[in-house]
Amino acid sequence: MISVEEALERILGEIHPLPATHVPLALAPGLVLATDVVAQEDIPPFANSAMDGFALRSQDSQPREGQPPRLRVTGGVAAGYVADHAVQEGTALRIMTGAPVPPGADTVIQIELTRYDGPESSWVEVLQPVAPGNNIRPAGEDMRRGQIVMRQGTEIGPWEVGILATLGLAMVPVTRRPRVAILGTGDEVIEVDQPLAPGKIRNSNSYLLEAAVQRAGAQPLRLGVARDTVESLREKFSQTMDSDLIITSGGVSVGDFDLVKNIMAEQGEINFWRINMRPGKPVAFGHIGQTPLLGLPGNPVSAAVTFELFGRPVLRKMLGHTHLLRPQITVMIEDGVSERASRRHYVRAHVSWRDGRFVAHTTGNQGSNIMTSLLNANALIIVPEGGVEVKPGDTAQALMLDWPEI
Ligand code: AMP
Ligand code: MG
Repeated sequence: MISVEEALERILGEIHPLPATHVPLALAPGLVLATDVVAQEDIPPFANSAMDGFALRSQDSQPREGQPPRLRVTGGVAAGYVADHAVQEGTALRIMTGAPVPPGADTVIQIELTRYDGPESSWVEVLQPVAPGNNIRPAGEDMRRGQIVMRQGTEIGPWEVGILATLGLAMVPVTRRPRVAILGTGDEVIEVDQPLAPGKIRNSNSYLLEAAVQRAGAQPLRLGVARDTVESLREKFSQTMDSDLIITSGGVSVGDFDLVKNIMAEQGEINFWRINMRPGKPVAFGHIGQTPLLGLPGNPVSAAVTFELFGRPVLRKMLGHTHLLRPQITVMIEDGVSERASRRHYVRAHVSWRDGRFVAHTTGNQGSNIMTSLLNANALIIVPEGGVEVKPGDTAQALMLDWPEI
């Protein structure tokens, strides 16, 4: 049995970011930039007004004999248009926010600092002197043509989308989204829309994993459930050919029908099998042909936890992320962990911030078949190998499942 750390290292050592592709901007959120983004234009592309007001020459704003200067208004310019004539000495143009500053003007005074005679006024009085450049957003103030605006490896969120849109990248260079084949195993496992029958249980794992794969940013493909026969498994694996990752659940333990390992040995290789942890000892990793396979345990909680620990980092690496692992923090355990395990124990817990520190309480029965203690769990308390006891009031490390990877 290998440690969690060694397992993670061996898995991630075999995983590489997928090739780059282009996706429409609207599909880019959650993906990772495959190249640097270089501005091809100045942004803003032209000097424009930051205010509704009047464009003028700054010299013309100086008081004359103690009186505000009165300028002749020769027209206006709205956002989306350009002025059809220049500002001359002693004149001004009405200007709206975002409109290009007309030639001849070197400043803009906001409407509140002027007096004028309605929207069609032929004159404006400038109530305060204004400096050159006032209320003008110069071309290239935000981004300069040729500037690297975002680096390869940047995760695309709403703010990045805004910048990509500004730069006109209707198609965005990203690392391709992984396709993940999800396979359940077991003669006892029936579909979710089937009534229970003697000895049968419903397929929770495939749906749980599908949702987790999706949340990790990958594209799941649920292949149903293989029977506990070599033939059925072979048939299912034959459908995984264009997947980037295969995730199975069940069939990797030491029972008579735990055949996933056999197929791995037959059609690829087993890198390792079994990790010194709980829940989730029977995790297998290897390949079917060239495709990596993560064989997760059958117990739903074990499948859920081992996906978080190993599956999610794999998908993030394929997606081009550089931050792969959830953060660990020190928490105070309110209720202690009674069961001692010789293996590393990941205890489902809820962590909250109270009275200036993080406190954790466990979410109930920690059996690997008890799915209800996944509810409300936003963290896994890490109880080290060797049967360490955690008493109420002790501190421990917790892996924060709802914090972004670091
Ligand atoms: P196995 O590793 O195949 O022996 O499975 C371990 C336990 O997980 C057994 O109790 C199985 O019935 C259960 N199990 C396996 N696959 C699933 C599944 N897809 N959904 C729910 N439980 C499962
Ligand atoms: Mg089974």
